Amino acid sequence: MSTSTETTVDLSRPEVHLHIGSERLSEGSAGSFEHVNPATGTVDKVIPLAGPAEVERAVNAAAAAFESWKRTAPAERARLLHRLADLIEENAGEFGRRGAMDNGTPLGTVASLTGKSIAWTRYYAGWADKITAEVTSTLTADGELGYTLRQPYGVIGIIITWNGPLISLAMKIPPAVAAGNTVVVKPSELTPFSAELFADLVEQAGFPPGVINILPGDAASGAALVEHPAVKKISFTGGPVTASKILTACAPTMKPVVLELGGKSANILFEDADLTAACGFGTIMSVGAMSGQGCAFPTRMLVQESIYDQVLAMVEAIAEQIVVGDPFAEGTFAGPVVNRAALERIQDVIAKAKADGARLVTGGGPLQLPGELAGGFFLQPTVFADVDPASELAQHEVFGPVLAITPFRDEAHALEIANSTRYGLSGYVHTQDLKRGLRVAEELVTGEVLINGAANLPVNRPFGGLGLSGLGKEGGRAGIEEFLFTKGIGIA
Ligand code: NAD
Repeated sequence: MSTSTETTVDLSRPEVHLHIGSERLSEGSAGSFEHVNPATGTVDKVIPLAGPAEVERAVNAAAAAFESWKRTAPAERARLLHRLADLIEENAGEFGRRGAMDNGTPLGTVASLTGKSIAWTRYYAGWADKITAEVTSTLTADGELGYTLRQPYGVIGIIITWNGPLISLAMKIPPAVAAGNTVVVKPSELTPFSAELFADLVEQAGFPPGVINILPGDAASGAALVEHPAVKKISFTGGPVTASKILTACAPTMKPVVLELGGKSANILFEDADLTAACGFGTIMSVGAMSGQGCAFPTRMLVQESIYDQVLAMVEAIAEQIVVGDPFAEGTFAGPVVNRAALERIQDVIAKAKADGARLVTGGGPLQLPGELAGGFFLQPTVFADVDPASELAQHEVFGPVLAITPFRDEAHALEIANSTRYGLSGYVHTQDLKRGLRVAEELVTGEVLINGAANLPVNRPFGGLGLSGLGKEGGRAGIEEFLFTKGIGIA
């Protein structure tokens, strides 16, 4: 592993506002939050937090806007979303800076996520005027005709996490508003800067006030949004503990929810795999990219016994070449983890894995960088081998740069281990035998399976898991259908 520390980027932090209707407020009734730069460990900005009063105002603004937005010509909704996509593209460089400021993701990684965000926004712009319903019966013997309407819910409450502050907005807001809903969005308080720019661009694009409201806020603001009676559906990305609280809060009124949660996704390497490609993908995508802070990352590598030692040697070499350092510096591949709490939590996971008998292959501790970065939340890319599939490391999401490697005997054994957690977000398989790849894809109990390093989050393929990984879909036609309900009409 090497480190990088040089940067020439403008590091001034932008002001953050509450965006309600046509208003931009500099203060919120829940006080303020000290945003900490994860690369230095120092406070870099104080941001306002929305309280229940501002949630109330934002929901009212969204409810008022819904009355005309639901009747706005679909082609006009599409035009505004296309304009927004163009503006995101024009501001891609600034989104890179904002993303790195938000959570320490390196500029190169943010650039790729910004590209995906543009694609998601354009894709759902395209859907706005292509939503159709169906005739459910032709004239029947008793003379009744049936058909369906596909209608927006009204105000959608959107709550997102901090690891992809722009892509999470782009996966939820465009389909929701393309379908004719209006939204109140609560980004994570840990990542306010990308959301602020997104809100500015919504205004520049010319969306009517109240269609998209963005409120920086904390857990309490999120809870107030969930409980608001005028919010008709919740779309959430975050952890299962919060998701469970949201489900409980929604239960009394049967408020529907989409939950995009975490994972402990298995990456199965068979002995006939292209090992250079499979080890590169499996290592970079678990202990390199976003410092392991990705919900769908392949965090358990299951390796056939005959290639086990060879794979361990390859993974070790790749992990040790990952450049960890200043997110603003050219050449950095992995930045810090998001905050001190995450740093400490991940170190505890590493200590527990050692105590449970896993063999440390590389990494295993914090990374001390020089100068300003000395206080940053940096970790070594960490790989464990001989991980017991029943151990905590194999069963629980780490959300940090820690890979668990376990050997398996044959296909049935690999599937047994892969399907042994309570999560079900993604599955990965590497083999030259296409029939085996397809067979394993069918047997994995996950929302998606990627064979031989296929890309994650293409906009036209539904994404979303089972079990502790959540409920509902984002992406493709399924993603917009989450924001439409079906009404059946009968004519006598
Ligand atoms: P979290 O659940 O703590 O927080 C997520 C959001 O919920 C934040 O905005 C937070 O302020 C808000 N929140 C907290 N308590 C709330 C409550 N009671 N009511 C309403 N809102 C509340 O999650 P986190 O630690 O920020 O994120 C990490 C998790 O997100 C991981 O499990 C990761 O796998 C998951 N994730 C999933 C996806 C996906 O698409 N499946 C994508 C990214 C991250």
